[in-house]
Amino acid sequence: EWEKRVRSSARIRRRPSGLSVLVTGAAGFVGTHASDALRRRGDGVVGIDNFNDYYDPSLKRARQALLSRSGIFLIEGDINDGPLLRKLFDLVAFTHVLHLAAQAGVRYAMLNPGSYVHSNVAGLVSILEAARTANPQPAVVWASSSSVYGLNTGVPFSESHRTDRPASLYAATKKAGEEIAHVYNHIYGLSITGLRFFTVYGPWGRPDMAYFSFTRDILAGKTITIFEGPGGVTVARDFTFIDDIVQGCIASLDTAKKSTGSGGTKQGPAQLRVFNLGNTSPVPVVELVSILERHLKVKAKRKVVKMPRNGDVLFTHANISSARAELGYQPTTNLQTGLKKFVKWYLAYYPSTAGSSVAKKRGGRGSSSS
Ligand code: NAD
Repeated sequence: EWEKRVRSSARIRRRPSGLSVLVTGAAGFVGTHASDALRRRGDGVVGIDNFNDYYDPSLKRARQALLSRSGIFLIEGDINDGPLLRKLFDLVAFTHVLHLAAQAGVRYAMLNPGSYVHSNVAGLVSILEAARTANPQPAVVWASSSSVYGLNTGVPFSESHRTDRPASLYAATKKAGEEIAHVYNHIYGLSITGLRFFTVYGPWGRPDMAYFSFTRDILAGKTITIFEGPGGVTVARDFTFIDDIVQGCIASLDTAKKSTGSGGTKQGPAQLRVFNLGNTSPVPVVELVSILERHLKVKAKRKVVKMPRNGDVLFTHANISSARAELGYQPTTNLQTGLKKFVKWYLAYYPSTAGSSVAKKRGGRGSSSS
């Protein structure tokens, strides 16, 4: 029964160009959107996720229900479960793996360092082992992170910038992942593409991220904390809308060359790529809050404090010329528009909080000036 559902979910609907993709972290924020977009094109998709409780698992279950309505089967399992992965690759000749499962978040690494090593280092090795022993070998596209640029201050960041000064354990595990990818490409001829995502946001997003928790707290009338750098320097992020990131993931899958196996082919060695996927226009976090205030029609109670040394960096800014040239990647959504879509989703998903926003507005209490 289980096997039947996996095979059916992996089946390509529109030939001949279709892909058959194993998406890890499919109940996650990016994984849900990417799986859904692939399925809409007619590609075969099978998801895997361990539904961990790093943030509200009910949100992951709701995303799973969404995918299930599009006919996508999502296996509950850990990417470190080698026998499970082998069974999956025996059942299905996946053409690609879109590896998004990871322990995300920068500050949580100080509370639970082991989970980063488990999911981001051991987990990646487990996925690459499964891919290299599969027949045929799938091409792998996986999520690295802009955090690999660490304490670099020369912006915008190009892929060739130094990545040897990570500011958090999260960043260090993503950087380790890039080195591990090099080994599996070099020895086993796996085709591997690493994508350095820059602060992804949007509907069905992650509750641990600032735009999400700010929205929740602004609506609840709670004070939000904004960090500033030394000497009052503004913290800024190259916020990138989810649909743009998904477009970059799919273009990476489409342009991935086949794995060659050990020794390469006459055409040469297997492909090893790394791309920035960002928006190329950093926005200060204070501006993010102002946009949220306008969309929510509620004034935020703000507190500005010096940024502690918690793994965060001061600012990020992507140079995307490589992704533009080689993937045709072109972000199209600015923060204003993207947050409007997020807020619309948020108020529909958490209708009780929408009520409080309206109540505040009616009472003239904390309403926005715009
Ligand atoms: P997410 O936490 O929503 O998704 C990750 C999913 O992976 C979760 O559903 C989780 O349950 C699952 N998972 C974690 N460990 C697992 C394991 N060992 N086995 C099976 N499943 C496991 O995060 P996201 O924002 O969707 O991020 C997707 C990827 O992109 C991650 O690799 C993340 O590090 C990377 N990334 C995200 C951002 C961002 O801003 N969202 C930025 C840079 C990089």
